[in-house]
This record gives sequence, C-alpha cells and structure tokens, in this order.
Amino acid sequence: MKEELRLLIELQECDSQLVALAAKKTRLPEKILAMENEFQACREKLSLNRQKHDELKAKRAEYEAAIKKLGDGMTKTKERLLEVKNNKEYQAMLKEIETAEKTSGEMETRMIALLEDTDKLFVLMREDDEALQRETRRYEQDKKAIEEDLNAVDADAESWARKRAELQKQISADLQARYEKVKKRNNGLGVISVWKAVCSGCHMNIPPQLYNELQRSNEMLSCPNCNRIMYFKNQEKSE
Ligand SMILES: [Zn+2]
Repeated sequence: MKEELRLLIELQECDSQLVALAAKKTRLPEKILAMENEFQACREKLSLNRQKHDELKAKRAEYEAAIKKLGDGMTKTKERLLEVKNNKEYQAMLKEIETAEKTSGEMETRMIALLEDTDKLFVLMREDDEALQRETRRYEQDKKAIEEDLNAVDADAESWARKRAELQKQISADLQARYEKVKKRNNGLGVISVWKAVCSGCHMNIPPQLYNELQRSNEMLSCPNCNRIMYFKNQEKSE
C-alpha cells in the first residue's frame, strides 16, 4: 500500500478516536447525573418506613402526654371531691371523673395498637437501612469507576491529538485538504476500506474495472458514490 494512504488511514483512526472521546466526555457526566437521581429516589423510597415509624412514635408521645394530663386532672378532681358540700356539684364531678377515665382507657387501647405497628415498622426500617447500605456501596463504586473513566478521557484525547499532529507533518497538504473535505461531507469518515467490491462506508458496489484498479494502482481513488478515499482491504485476512 502506498505510504501516504497508510498514513491517511492512521489519521482517520485518530479523528475517529477523538470524536468518540468527545462524545464520551459529554455522555459520562450525564450518566453520573442519572445515577445520582436514581440513587436519590432509592434513598427516599427506603426512608418511608422510617418516616412512618417516627410519625407513630410522635403520636405515641402525644397519647402519653394526654393520658398523663387526664390522670393529673382526675387526681385534682378527686381531691376537690372531698371538699364539696353540694350534691349536684358532687354528681357533676363524679361524671367528670368517669368521662376522663373512659377517655384515658380508650387512649391506652389505641396506644397499644400503635406500639405493635411501631414494632413492625422498626423491623422494616432495619431492613431498609441494610438495603440502603448495600445500595450506597454499589452507587459509590459505580460512580467512582465512571469518574476514573472520565478522567482518562482527557489524557487519551491528548495522546491521539499528539499522534495526529505527527501524522499531519507527513501527509501532503493537498491530500489532507481532500480528506478533510470528503470527511466533512461524510459523517467524519474520509477514508474507507473496500472489500468484495463493496464500499464499507456507503455499502454501494464499486464497478469491476475500478475495483481492479484499486487493487493494483497507486492512485488515490474515490468511491464513485460517497466520494470517500478508498483502500483495498481483505477482510478475511487478519492483520
Ligand atoms: Zn462509498
């Protein structure tokens, strides 16, 4: 193969790598962001039982305070009961104590039910905590791997750009201009391999005579359809 064509193929490799790395540099931060959002949603979901548990605990404290208040009230009423002379007032106070006792009893029943629910939620909460620990570890590992990948992108791009600059020095300005022009019009691919008379860029057939010429000639030939610079490559032979 003509030396300049070989260099051009290498140049194409540099350009393709640089395009892929630029895409990676955009894609990876998006991937990290999506992972962060997903993890945040998972964390919120796994905190629901804890929230419910805390709410029930607060409710239980409310009941406890209310029961204590009722108890204190009853103690005072019972003390006052000893000083009352009027029968009507005495009956009213007994009624007051009876109502307070009933209310207090009902609250205690509700509090016991609440205690059972709180215990059940406590078990679920512990399971959620363990699941969250697992998810956090997984998330941090995945994120670290992507961040390392992202850090390598710049170094990779720099190395390909250096190689490209070296190649540019060795390829004639005319050929580079031709390559750049064709590349621009063909999704970043200016040089393309041909095998079994098919252009691997546009997948069109190369006329037999041109295909023969491609395998023998030293000319820089173009695909008649997509205009890319062609080179013959036996795809069955490993390099
Ligand atoms: Zn073509």
